[in-house]
Amino acid sequence: MFRIRFHGRGGHGVKTASRIVGTAAFLGGWQAQDSPVYGAERRGAAIAAFTRIDREPIRERGVVVDPDLVVVADETLLDDPMAGIFAGCESASVVFVNSSRDGVAIARKHQIGCRVLTVDLTGRAIEWLGRGSALSSALGAAAYALTGIGTVELLAEAVRRELAELHIASEAIEKNVALARQVHGGLPAGDFLARQAIAASCLMHVPTYAAGPQGLPIIYAPGNSAARHTGSWRIFRPLIDLDACTRCGICFSYCPDAAIMLDPKGYPAIDYDNCKGCMICYRECPLKCIREEKEVRAW
Ligand code: SF4
Ligand code: SF4
Repeated sequence: MFRIRFHGRGGHGVKTASRIVGTAAFLGGWQAQDSPVYGAERRGAAIAAFTRIDREPIRERGVVVDPDLVVVADETLLDDPMAGIFAGCESASVVFVNSSRDGVAIARKHQIGCRVLTVDLTGRAIEWLGRGSALSSALGAAAYALTGIGTVELLAEAVRRELAELHIASEAIEKNVALARQVHGGLPAGDFLARQAIAASCLMHVPTYAAGPQGLPIIYAPGNSAARHTGSWRIFRPLIDLDACTRCGICFSYCPDAAIMLDPKGYPAIDYDNCKGCMICYRECPLKCIREEKEVRAW
């Protein structure tokens, strides 16, 4: 059995990626199972999804605790201990990270013994789709390529089926297909070793969550949202050009997380500990004096 675990944030298309892999496998005659798990169901919050693929009926259920392949949509999750990216990985596992950084350096930094492969899927999604957060086809293509279980034509058909179910326009679907083909073609087919003899020991795993204030979508006390540093959720960082700003205050009033404050002169200032990178301010600024810049973390 191939066990694949996807990690990403709400809005990346991680759930759809797991469905694309499952559907492509199913079209190729395999048995497939896919399922997501959400914590706080909110754009930017960490989520995971799981795909199991086998020639035999799949009786195992629950989260994948011993993955053959881990697919990471957002490299900032690597630094989040609550995300559990490397949980259950062994030397035969492969970790694929959407990153322009070197996989060996990532493995060294996190002191993991398994192989880490990287491709800058965000850059490719921007190139093909004009949106860096629309990653479902690229992530699904990467995972499918690494399993080496089927053809790129089955992948293309799976992308079409899954995105059509989401009512995505046909022109956008074909761009996703082109993106998926490119990602698939750039990765070594079947370049991971499925561990064949893992006991089906996880018939119904209950996911573990972080302690209440961090892990559950519950308000424990009024005004505590500032204590939850959602800045680590960001993929893009808003940057304000104060020379062009007219102090209209629109960004301040539209920010859903109150992460923009006005200084005594009325200029906006962003609290990057709590700005989750939704980019609403960027879209609403009437003068377009807020720009977006892709987050780069220091390794
Ligand atoms: S991106 Fe802008 S609107 Fe969104 S949380 Fe950050 S400051 Fe607020
Ligand atoms: S919306 Fe734009 S112009 Fe208005 S305060 Fe914010 S940054 Fe300045």
